[in-house]
Amino acid sequence: MSHLFPTYSKWELEPESAKGSYLYCKDGGVYLDFTSGIGVCNLGHCHPEVKESVEQQLNKFWHISNLFPIDLQEKTAEILTNASGLDLVFFANSGAEANEAAIKLARKATGKTKILTFHQSFHGRTFATMSATGQDKIKQGYGPMLDKFEYVPFNDLQALEQQLTEEVAAVMLEVVQGEGGIYVASKEFLQGVEVLCKEKGALLLIDEIQTGIGRTGKAFAFQHFGIKPDIISVAKGMANGIPTGAIVADGRLKEFFGPGSHGTTFGGNPIAMAAATKTMEIIFQPTFLEEVQTKSEWIFSLLKQKLSGNQLVKDIRGLGLMIGIELDMPVVSILEELRKEGLIVLNAGEKVIRLLPSLNTPKEDIERAIAILEKNLNIHAKLTI
Ligand SMILES: *Cc1c(COP(=O)(O)O)cnc(C)c1O
Repeated sequence: MSHLFPTYSKWELEPESAKGSYLYCKDGGVYLDFTSGIGVCNLGHCHPEVKESVEQQLNKFWHISNLFPIDLQEKTAEILTNASGLDLVFFANSGAEANEAAIKLARKATGKTKILTFHQSFHGRTFATMSATGQDKIKQGYGPMLDKFEYVPFNDLQALEQQLTEEVAAVMLEVVQGEGGIYVASKEFLQGVEVLCKEKGALLLIDEIQTGIGRTGKAFAFQHFGIKPDIISVAKGMANGIPTGAIVADGRLKEFFGPGSHGTTFGGNPIAMAAATKTMEIIFQPTFLEEVQTKSEWIFSLLKQKLSGNQLVKDIRGLGLMIGIELDMPVVSILEELRKEGLIVLNAGEKVIRLLPSLNTPKEDIERAIAILEKNLNIHAKLTI
């Protein structure tokens, strides 16, 4: 009997080891992992250079507390600020904690409390981030949410214009809604949001937890759209599998996070920073990011070529290597069949297959994955005729 709370309905596979885009499981099977630990291991499993960086730090010290100056925090913060065009970093341990910091900072800096987020958004599982999330299903049974969150239809600038009054502290959004179903924001929408925020004195918070760290072919997804947020939150892919998170914010917010105003014991942990610096040094190289974009174009054209004739496939969408395939049917049983055929993928909502391959997945592995998908979906299409 398991001694774990059953908060996750676990898959039948149990990995024993992992390397690159492959999982080696206890059943002896070798599986192609197109989940990357839910958008975390963007450089693939057990990346040798990240491993070496962590090992070096393991031999120096593991944890000393945020009371000391820590070189690796400064280095990681410099990489994050250089890559984002923002100025100051606070380190957290997870996505939800990063969003908590963003929400606290926005409320304190504006002296206002109302925050607008979007339908089918996902921002985390703590009280504030669960309240920020625009999906009722994760809130059931928990009683009253944190006050002052309001939800707006995604990609609907007119609706936002109506709800975005002078009382609003911040607008918080994902450039590509991940958990909600891989919905990509339009350029007009994002640019409009930025203008409206400025007009009404609201901060623009972009949740880059799933979209950041090269996932969409830029360091951060907002950079595709020529906008500048006030705060971004980062986590998942930041240290290629070692837990960490951060917010990166505009320098004019400095005074609102002064001594004693916010904190966390583990935030900026040296082991996590060693992994984060190496991960981001590799991913933020312009040639690396260009390759992600080229690979993305190639995958989307291959997917369209192989799947768009299938009558179960309603839409193929996404940005970079964050890909959604919307079907005309629930996908849970399909995910299980795909695993039996050697391919591990995620869902996003009920009817969307979500692909989050590591950013350096070789082309032949991608071709194999798409062939497995094509074969499976063709069988289902025949069954439904
Ligand atoms: C995963 C995710 C979170 C929550 O991150 P945790 O590390 O699980 O707390 C928040 N926002 C987005 C967009 C995410 O994808």
